Amino acid sequence: MQSEPTIPAANNGGLVLHPVANRRCGSCERWHGERRAGADGHSIELDSEMRMGVCRGGPWDNSERRARSACGRWTVWTALPQR
Ligand code: SF4
Repeated sequence: MQSEPTIPAANNGGLVLHPVANRRCGSCERWHGERRAGADGHSIELDSEMRMGVCRGGPWDNSERRARSACGRWTVWTALPQR
């Protein structure tokens, strides 16, 4: 599998934006942390870089993962606009 380019997260008035293209836990369907779909349709919004959420159904099943963590079982959060 070809790796995705790493795009730095941007700060947006106190919110942390994470690009979906980075394929991190925060934009994964299996991650259950507090987040919001970004208005640009290509990012997620978090209130903190340290935000944690439980992975359900992935290799870290039932364990807390940081939004910026990653693994090979990432699958896009279905709440995000389809691209
Ligand atoms: S550990 Fe993998 S499967 Fe679990 S939330 Fe993160 S990217 Fe998704």
